[in-house]
Amino acid sequence: MASIELHDLTKHYKQGATTVKAVDGISLAIEAGEFVSIVGRSGSGKTTTLDLLGLLLRPTSGQIVLDGADTGRLRDGARADLRGKKIGFVFQDFNLLPGLNAIENVMLPLRYHKNGKGGKGRAATLLEDVGLKDRMHHRPDQLSGGEQQRVAIARSLINRPSLVLGDEPTGEVDSETSQQIVALMRRMNREHGVTFVLVTHDMDVAAQTDRVIRLKDGKVLSDVKAKTEQTFLTTLDLQGVIA
Ligand code: ADP
Ligand code: MG
Repeated sequence: MASIELHDLTKHYKQGATTVKAVDGISLAIEAGEFVSIVGRSGSGKTTTLDLLGLLLRPTSGQIVLDGADTGRLRDGARADLRGKKIGFVFQDFNLLPGLNAIENVMLPLRYHKNGKGGKGRAATLLEDVGLKDRMHHRPDQLSGGEQQRVAIARSLINRPSLVLGDEPTGEVDSETSQQIVALMRRMNREHGVTFVLVTHDMDVAAQTDRVIRLKDGKVLSDVKAKTEQTFLTTLDLQGVIA
């Protein structure tokens, strides 16, 4: 399981004479095993924050500490290794390779990194686990959007990551499928003990997570933890998190 600390993190983009502060001083800690969502309007810095967490971008300043390791000290190769071993990704548009079937897609990350025992058996078990036992040899174009995202979730777990990141993972499926996808990620969070951080603009999705971090202009506007699942939507509403 992954613990994450962000210390006064910034990411600035220079555009001619102006500087866009995409991330503007974020400090927070995410404990191992948390199920967290990041919300906020378009342009508030959600994707940039997630890409920093995923070690896909280097910050302008500040620190990202992953399981106690200061990632800023790592060279590119070591960062890529750490990413491959510790972090799984789920994307809005699934990002499956069209020429490969479901089980081949799930096994794809093993070509680059291998964490412990794994292979076709583990891929098959994961596909079974996400409810796709009878879809293992289907190609992406033979699967529904929800099924493709379930393949992508199985793929994100193949390397036994401690952290899975999703940028709008339910952005391209209908609301019923979206609820099923979040419920599946929640189950994987519990059963595999994996930390999940999801970017979403869907408050129904956010309300299913344990903690909602709202960004505005690259800063944390609010950070609310659920006390009980039943009252979280109400809590978010009372705290003005639901815009
Ligand atoms: P969100 O995901 O919340 O919509 P982003 O993190 O994508 O927000 O973007 C935050 C801000 O940073 C926006 O103003 C965006 O235009 C800007 N930005 C993001 N990426 C880049 C980039 N590569 N170059 C310049 N500006 C960027
Ligand atoms: Mg975004």
